[in-house]
Amino acid sequence: MTHRAYNFSAGPAVLPEPVLRIAKDQLLELPDVGASVMEISHRSAAFKDILDGTRGALRELLELPDEYHILFLQGGSRLQFAMVPMNLRAAADQPADYVLTGSWGQKAIDEARLQGAARVAWDGSGDGYRRIPTPAQLDLDPGAAYVHFTSNETIEGVQFAREPDPGSAPLVCDASSDFLSRPIDTTRYGLIYACAQKNAGPAGVTIVLIRDDLVQRSPRTVPRMLSYQVHADHESLFNTPPTFAIYMVGLVARWLLDDVGGLAVMDQRNRSKAKILYDAIDQSEGFFRGHADPSCRSLMNVTFRLSTPELEKAFVQQAAEQGMVALAGHRSVGGIRASIYNAMPVEGVETLGQFMRDFCRRHA
Ligand code: PMP
Repeated sequence: MTHRAYNFSAGPAVLPEPVLRIAKDQLLELPDVGASVMEISHRSAAFKDILDGTRGALRELLELPDEYHILFLQGGSRLQFAMVPMNLRAAADQPADYVLTGSWGQKAIDEARLQGAARVAWDGSGDGYRRIPTPAQLDLDPGAAYVHFTSNETIEGVQFAREPDPGSAPLVCDASSDFLSRPIDTTRYGLIYACAQKNAGPAGVTIVLIRDDLVQRSPRTVPRMLSYQVHADHESLFNTPPTFAIYMVGLVARWLLDDVGGLAVMDQRNRSKAKILYDAIDQSEGFFRGHADPSCRSLMNVTFRLSTPELEKAFVQQAAEQGMVALAGHRSVGGIRASIYNAMPVEGVETLGQFMRDFCRRHA
């Protein structure tokens, strides 16, 4: 008997219960290995099977063509903010375009600017990051090394319904908080990165999908640990990779393939979960005020405010007493944030939706 709460954490976040059960069963001993995954060499045949299996499951889920490498790196998505410009710019003065739809995009461009030129191709900060640009609003430089965007802004709860058109430059995506939540046309991207700790596994590994021609861009002067080319050449075994986290990502990917039935099914589930909460907001007659413009609402992080910080505090506290935890908004913006990633069961979202209606009735 477990007493797992409905966990609305933005990350590290809820993992699928069947995955946790397999990991628990195999914690002392992987089948036919006699040791746990944390106790074997990253160069052993047993770990090679796990690494190949994780890569294979991700490739199948995403229908990823052969010309893309799948890398398992460390340093979180924050390190990708630095590795992307370090590896993809031909020279420090070659500009890179950034589409700013939230706080994480801003942090990404700040990092790129430590190394060279980075342009703002669209800036959503003026109205507090509530929307994404229309295609006509993008101001792209045809000479840009790449165009960077954040598919889902975890803090503000603003998501691209589909990827922007980068023109002739390769498209680079920070997909940290909506990776594996829906099908995407990977061929439209040059590089996609995502830390694992929202939809794909535990903290400790960052997944990078990168097209082979971009791997070839890594300058030889880049420190080897920070070079896409080095990691691709060594198939993510240049140094000791985060073996347990990679194993867990493999289990999550198999869960998506075998139990859920793929990303299209997952997308449908995520849409119906998000609708429950947005309906509760929209039908509250202004008691709950959603942050994102309705056309740009995130299916992963539902952000809203109540009329006073006191009321928000009471909301978070009473929800926790009823087994719904981690609902406070990011420390930088406050309010409420319900993160409803793949592994959040629909029952958890229904319970929260009902709580919202009850809370509104009691306090409106
Ligand atoms: N980008 C986005 C969209 C995120 O949500 C996060 C983490 N919340 C990051 C980047 C940073 O990831 P990490 O903490 O793994 O460096």
